[in-house]
Amino acid sequence: MDDIIIVGAGPAGLTAGLFARRAGCSVKIFERLAPGGQAVLSHDIANYPGFLSIDGFSLTEKMVEQVKNLGAEIVNEEIVSIKKEKEKICVVTKDNEYCAKKLIIASGAKERLLNCTGEKEFTGRGVSYCASCDGFFFKDKTVAVIGGGNTAFEDVLYLSKIAKKIYLVHRREGFRADNIVIEKVKKLKNVTFVLNECTKEIKGKDKVERIDFCSGLGLDVDAVFIAIGRIPDLDFLNIDVKKSQSGYIIVDKDMQTSVENVYACGDITDHRLKQIITACAEGAIAGDSASKD
Ligand code: NAP
Repeated sequence: MDDIIIVGAGPAGLTAGLFARRAGCSVKIFERLAPGGQAVLSHDIANYPGFLSIDGFSLTEKMVEQVKNLGAEIVNEEIVSIKKEKEKICVVTKDNEYCAKKLIIASGAKERLLNCTGEKEFTGRGVSYCASCDGFFFKDKTVAVIGGGNTAFEDVLYLSKIAKKIYLVHRREGFRADNIVIEKVKKLKNVTFVLNECTKEIKGKDKVERIDFCSGLGLDVDAVFIAIGRIPDLDFLNIDVKKSQSGYIIVDKDMQTSVENVYACGDITDHRLKQIITACAEGAIAGDSASKD
């Protein structure tokens, strides 16, 4: 049995592991995909102190190296459920069960779906949730990016160097994105804003060819990048942890949840600012708190 099991090897989980290992605890960090979490998808992080600009893969690669050097084990298995007993907490994966004294949930968030006609059908055939993964396929093409937050704007910036024409489609006039990135996008010659529009249908034959809006207007496009935020990734969590109305885990100042010996940190918590730096800070507190008796 380990001292601490951490669910998720994004910035929050990796930092929790770092602090727990430095406190002398044995740590297993579970990750179903590659370590790094959603941060890996960010191509230009300019608000992580110490780096003028760094891509998410390079930044999280350093975090992985650091926590592994300290002796934390990264286990590449997907957790499907949790068993909470009096003296221990066990995580169940497809083939195994692992137990520890404490659990830290750092499972982050997954992409929110647009839920319009054609979205599912054309995913992987022009519909994408990751500009840095799929942008390359649309060199000199026309693409739409849907959303008004930092992710959508960063995606537009990234795609503006690859695609011929980009439409930024947003459902209202105001944006959630930071002004600095909005101003950069406004200066781009190959970007057009399509505001106050909701997406009714994405359509085509074998691949995306057109996007139709609720107003009756539409655009011919080769790809649709959907960047409309994230939702908590807690499908495995079958224990009764207190959550906010929108499904994020409520924690106290020590990152302790409503369940004894269960902590949470990063994008999964009910905190407003969801950045790599805040995920790391919460991870540090969770790792430190869980290391105490
Ligand atoms: P976000 O900030 O929550 O923005 C989501 C956007 O999608 C909003 O503009 C929202 O519109 C729109 N939207 C939501 N549901 C929609 C729907 N069903 N149909 C159409 N549009 C919809 O999400 P995000 O951009 O992914 O960012 C998530 C967090 O990560 C934020 O805290 C962000 O600051 C942070 N982040 C930071 C960086 C960075 O600093 N480098 C980069 C990326 C992300 P409304 O505004 O009308 O609700």
